[in-house]
Amino acid sequence: MDSAQVSKLEMFFFPFVGGGHMLPMVDAARLFASHGVKSTIIAPPTAAISLHSAVQRDQQSGHHITLRTLTLPPDQTLDAADMSAPPSTDTSVLQEPLHRLLTELRPDCFVFDMFHSWSADVVDGLGIPRIVFTGNGCFSRCAENSLRRHAPHEKVDSDFEPFLLPGLPNRIELTRSQLPIFVRTGPGGGDRMRRSMQNNFGVLVNSFYELEPAYADYFKKEITNRAWLIGPVSLCNRNVEDKVERGKDQISIDAQNCLDWLDSKNPNSVLYVSFGSLARIPPTQLVEIAYGLEASGHPFIWVIGKVSGDDDGEAENWVPKGFQQRISESKKGLIIRGWAPQLLILEHAATGGFVTHCGWNSTLEAVTAGVPVVTWPLSAEQFYNEKLLTDVLKIGVRVGSVEWVSWKTERKETVGREKVAKAVEQLMGGGEQTAVMSRRARELAEKAKKAVEEGGSSYADAEALIDELKSHRERDTLIKSVVPVDDESLLCEPAGTVDGESSL
Ligand code: UDP
Repeated sequence: MDSAQVSKLEMFFFPFVGGGHMLPMVDAARLFASHGVKSTIIAPPTAAISLHSAVQRDQQSGHHITLRTLTLPPDQTLDAADMSAPPSTDTSVLQEPLHRLLTELRPDCFVFDMFHSWSADVVDGLGIPRIVFTGNGCFSRCAENSLRRHAPHEKVDSDFEPFLLPGLPNRIELTRSQLPIFVRTGPGGGDRMRRSMQNNFGVLVNSFYELEPAYADYFKKEITNRAWLIGPVSLCNRNVEDKVERGKDQISIDAQNCLDWLDSKNPNSVLYVSFGSLARIPPTQLVEIAYGLEASGHPFIWVIGKVSGDDDGEAENWVPKGFQQRISESKKGLIIRGWAPQLLILEHAATGGFVTHCGWNSTLEAVTAGVPVVTWPLSAEQFYNEKLLTDVLKIGVRVGSVEWVSWKTERKETVGREKVAKAVEQLMGGGEQTAVMSRRARELAEKAKKAVEEGGSSYADAEALIDELKSHRERDTLIKSVVPVDDESLLCEPAGTVDGESSL
């Protein structure tokens, strides 16, 4: 082994299977490989195939990146392990294969998704520094910190009475109906998840400083100073293949058809509508969206993922009469059932707006593409992200969704077609408001791109983490050379503690 190989830092990335969690962590692994780190993605058996090509392309361009598939123990299965895997998916069946892999390879650090909370015990037992990846940005963490500290939601009389979030850099108002159930009823996530969020080496954040500077500062002051903002990680998808194949095993349209359709439209004229990888939208809501989009008169690409009450994907009778035919004939709309090449669509010059559920990845991807949004939060931390987009960044128009509902619960709230059409008109209508939001979004996109380039803030944070891990390894090697071999427990001291981690 030559000296260059000896000094190469080795980072392991263990993504959760669901789309909103797996995609950014895989991007993060690729990003660190581009910084000269030896990156290893540990894939559950169900996810490995979709990652293969991107990893191979990176290898061909000289990056040191490897994909290792964990093999399930005999007679064991992993339920619901596709892109729409919900947070409750129990992956602990992978405990033993993970332990074996880490014992054999002993990386310099282990980056894990908070939904694999059980993996913290495996890693701690081996004395490997662990870094948590929660998949969200700083703003939502700060909002939740304010709620936990001051409990303003307990001082209002109804679920729909607005209250202020104390202590935040901007004036942010929410209602109790918009809060996650585990915030309304006290911290959730269970003991194991809470434990796994403590005693970490630090937190990896998919965001960039210039997007939310006041909240990044708040986050580092009030929540943990051991945080590295390294995003937007989706920018590591540099060529068309990367963008088309991201989450590829589920892609539901020929990418070229999609691009041809977009090419036929005017710049900034198309609205992209998607609710992410997990949400289930009831048929009654889909009907309102259909009429609302048609009434708005703007061309659209609408991704229809899971329809609630239609797990076998066969019920299509929710479509309003003649809708499909009208939009095909007029070439006004393109419907994608299943999975769309989102990065490719967002960055196309014809795309001028995005109706989004405000999942953090979609939020950041809209910013990165310079596309303003209609915000339609449903679940998770999406109502906080809506506030960031509308009240802080001012690149979003609210559709008027007020009800936080867990992904597995049937939604009672239906947003009517008039509200849909009105929000779309405000976003795409071409007036002063449209122009200002589009300009702001474009400016943020420039900052996002600069952040990950050499000299940018995210680039610097990634390098800072690499340096810290190298120093940690040197200290570790030094201690090992003076501590008797049977005293290995001394080597497990974590380098940093993350206080007050949330159950997001
Ligand atoms: N995504 C995609 N095609 C789709 C739906 C989603 O590529 O048809 C990607 C999207 O680009 C984003 C992720 O899946 O990176 C969804 O993450 P987000 O945080 O926005 O929402 P979640 O799925 O976690 O609710």
